[in-house]
Amino acid sequence: MSGDTIFGKIIRREIPADIVFENEKVLAFRDVNPQAPVHVLVIPKQPVRDLNGADREMMGDLLDGVQKVAELEGLSKEGFRVVTNVGTNAGQTVFHLHLHVLGGRSFRWPPG
Ligand code: AMP
Repeated sequence: MSGDTIFGKIIRREIPADIVFENEKVLAFRDVNPQAPVHVLVIPKQPVRDLNGADREMMGDLLDGVQKVAELEGLSKEGFRVVTNVGTNAGQTVFHLHLHVLGGRSFRWPPG
């Protein structure tokens, strides 16, 4: 069950996280293995495995979280990247939907 992932434990405060932003619907915290000067994960509090299980309302809540994180971290103007990995081919390792918000450096395209 996706509620039993490590992110579920963070939501339930069973393990610590460096929380950047929280509201009723989403939680945003710093990635433990940052790939950029700013690397924050924005997750729904509802346990959904990946993008396939999300709906418009949830994505709207996540968008609010991403915009808030960008604002708080000073990324809105300089730019940032938002990534979500869906399934094994994409390299998903934690099966609770999350948006990576990366910033503070330049990124190349296409990604690997
Ligand atoms: P993904 O590979 O897209 O599923 O991303 C999972 C991300 O979760 C990785 O970037 C990990 O570094 C990150 N991660 C795993 N455990 C934790 C944790 N306890 N706190 C914060 N980030 C974590």
